[in-house]
Amino acid sequence: MKKTDKDETVDQIKTRVVGIDIRLDKTTFGIVDVRGEIIAQDYFATSDYADVNDYVAVLAEKLLTLMEENGGYEYIRSVGISAPSASSVSGCIENAANLPWKGVIPLAAMLRDRVGMAVALANDAHITALGEKAYGSAHGMKDFVVVSMSHGGLGSCFYSNGLPHLGAQGFGGEVGHTCVRIGGRQCGCGNRGCLETYCTEKGLGRTIEKLMANNDKPTLLSEKKEWDIKTVAQCCDKGDEVAIEALRITGDILGVGLANYASVLNPEAIILTGDLTMAGKWLLKPMRKAFNEHVFPNIKDSTRILVSILKEGERDVLGASALAWDVKEYSLFK
Ligand SMILES: [Zn+2]
Repeated sequence: MKKTDKDETVDQIKTRVVGIDIRLDKTTFGIVDVRGEIIAQDYFATSDYADVNDYVAVLAEKLLTLMEENGGYEYIRSVGISAPSASSVSGCIENAANLPWKGVIPLAAMLRDRVGMAVALANDAHITALGEKAYGSAHGMKDFVVVSMSHGGLGSCFYSNGLPHLGAQGFGGEVGHTCVRIGGRQCGCGNRGCLETYCTEKGLGRTIEKLMANNDKPTLLSEKKEWDIKTVAQCCDKGDEVAIEALRITGDILGVGLANYASVLNPEAIILTGDLTMAGKWLLKPMRKAFNEHVFPNIKDSTRILVSILKEGERDVLGASALAWDVKEYSLFK
C-alpha cells in the first residue's frame, strides 16, 4: 500500500483534553485543544454533593454530555484535575480541609472508571503554576514562583530549572505557612504568624477589624460586616484612610514574605494570582516597597513581580488541561 493513502496508513491523534478545577464552592470543567483554546466550559456546585460517589457520578455524566455536544468523545485524549490537598503521586485527595469529603479519596481512579480514559490529578497550587507556565505569564521561564492569594488561602509553587519543586512529601513551596510575625495571628495550620493569616481576603478582614477597634477614624468600611477585596479597593479609591492603611499593612507583609522567598530561590519572576490582586496599586505599591527593602540586594533589580495575565475563571482549567497531556493515553473503548 502507498504511503499517500492517508486514511489507512497514517495514525490519527487526539487533539483535545479535559481540564477540571475542583473548589469548595464550584467545580469548573472544560474541553481544551492543543493550542490552549477552551472550546466549551461548564460548572456546578461542589458542595451540593456530600457523598463523593454521587459527586463523581454527576461529574462524569456532565463531562460526557459536554463532550458529545462539542465534537464527540472520540477526540478527547485524557483528563486533568486540580484539587486542594491532592497528591499527583497517589492520584488521591488526602484529608482536604476545604472540600466536603473527608479522608483519602482516590478521585483519579474513580473518574477514570466512569469516563474510560486516563485521568491525572494534582494539587491546586501546582496546577496554577503549570497553567502559568503552559499558557500564561511564566511561559518560557525556567525559574519562577507563583503565589495565589484567594479568600482564605495563600497557595504557592515554584519551578526550578524548568521543573516544579515538590519536595520529599509533595508539600514543597508553601510560602503561605512561613512565619512573618513571631507570635502573630493563629493560622489554620496550627502555627502562628503565617503569611496566609495576613495576605488573603480573610486576613485583610482581620486587619480591618483590628484597625477599627484601635482608632476612631470614620470609615466607609464600618457599614459592612464582611469586606470583600473589591469593596475595600473601592473605599481606597474614595480616599478612605482605614481602607488604605489596611491594604498598606497587607502589602507591607506580603512584600517581606515574597522577599524571603525570592532571596532563597532567585527566581526570574514572581507571578501573583487570585482575588487579592484586584486591590491593584493599593496593595502592590506597598508590597513592592517592602520587597525592595528586604530582598537580597544582588537580586533586587532582576526579580520581576507580575500579576497573572490569565483570567481567574480559566487559569486552573487550563493548568489541569496541561497536566492531562502529561498522562499516558488510555482508553477503555479503543
Ligand atoms: Zn499556617
